[in-house]
Amino acid sequence: MSLVVYNTLTREKEPFETLEPGKVRMYVCGPTVYADAHVGHAMSSVVFDFIRRYLEYKGYQVRHVMNFTDVDDKIIARAAQAGQDPADLANRYTEAYQEQLAKLNVRRPAVFPRVSQTIVEIIRMVADLVESDHAYVTPGGDVYFRVRSDDDYGKLSRRKLAEAISGTRVLSSEEKVEEGDFALWKAAKPGEPSWASPWGRGRPGWHIECSAMNLLHLGEQIDIHGGGNDLIFPHHENEIAQTESYTGKPFVRYWLHNGMLQLKGEKMSKSLGNLVTIDEFLAQHDADAFRLVIAGSGYRKPLAFNDDVLADAERGLDRLRTALRPVTGSVVIGPAVDALAEQVSQARVAFEAAMDDDFNTAGALAALFELVRAINTARDAGVAGQPFADAQGAFRTLGDVLGLRLAAAPQAQGQSIAPFVDLLLAVRTDLRKAKQWALSDKVRDGLKALGVIVEDGPQSSTWRLE
Ligand SMILES: [Zn+2]
Repeated sequence: MSLVVYNTLTREKEPFETLEPGKVRMYVCGPTVYADAHVGHAMSSVVFDFIRRYLEYKGYQVRHVMNFTDVDDKIIARAAQAGQDPADLANRYTEAYQEQLAKLNVRRPAVFPRVSQTIVEIIRMVADLVESDHAYVTPGGDVYFRVRSDDDYGKLSRRKLAEAISGTRVLSSEEKVEEGDFALWKAAKPGEPSWASPWGRGRPGWHIECSAMNLLHLGEQIDIHGGGNDLIFPHHENEIAQTESYTGKPFVRYWLHNGMLQLKGEKMSKSLGNLVTIDEFLAQHDADAFRLVIAGSGYRKPLAFNDDVLADAERGLDRLRTALRPVTGSVVIGPAVDALAEQVSQARVAFEAAMDDDFNTAGALAALFELVRAINTARDAGVAGQPFADAQGAFRTLGDVLGLRLAAAPQAQGQSIAPFVDLLLAVRTDLRKAKQWALSDKVRDGLKALGVIVEDGPQSSTWRLE
């Protein structure tokens, strides 16, 4: 089975072939850090975490870069309102988002570039585009990209040039040559953050940061570029125009876009005032439940996010956790053992087949639930020992591809289970002194299946949650 991915550029599912064998260069557009991140941001980060985790499961080495837009009109406006320094405000939300990603069990990107730390590269790129006449400088010190200079402008969003030009939301400017031309560099206004440039003091436009960060951290060509489908136009269209005009090479192999999260059926936005922040969500719910909601929907579709789907996900989570209950019997029964091994293998095949089909997480989740049923049936039939531990291990491995922590999730659990784990370890120490190795291994393996790692020292043993 090999992986196929839906490429927004071609509107087709294509075989996945990387530029360099075994390696994936993946860039995902991150948030503009001017307010608390909400569940819509989290959705995009979790979707691309599913994708990264599956690629890593398949043996790829993934270099994942996610940016923070920390220089922006909204940040400046918000900081002015609050009487704060824009850089401080952006910094606070940038750090908060990194913590939220960790709580959501999103694997940490290799680099988190910020605009404020990429200014030199941005200026170099803009200067080159001016030099090659893809961009022009206005008398006021703004720099615009000349959309007409790019022959295939509009290829990602499939807009004809005229349509693209009138579709932009940029306010018309006396100094712009054409309406669709977009800002690479904006001249400084009084009281705003600014940097010295060949065109006077100013700050970067939005789109150029992602082109410059890709070039700096991943190179001229990348395998996967991701983001929400609200970014296809103009943001990603403009990224392609800038980068390809600069390098003369195709920029991205596969453009992957997630659908928008819809709260009670409406697209979530600030203006609707129906935002749920990530912190608000995690104060009341498990990150695993959030992952189940997203996995159950399919990443390209709009995601209906409401109490009903959340309650469903929480029931599903309870069911998944039943697979990790310890064995009750100690007898190994032949036919039931063989049946379990066969069902584990079937579940793995079904899981991979689903994920290979453009990261079909709903199908993968169905395979995981089948495995839960098989494990629980085997336990009831008296299957124990290694065959049972193997099945639970396979279940944990596949769950981890979806970023599910399952039993080890809530931190508070570490407190409540502590006295019991301590007691088991004390008994195990006595068993070891009595050279009862088989029993002492059974305790250690049983704890591991529950997500508790035992480490033996010369005198005593310690434990931690996986
Ligand atoms: Zn971007």
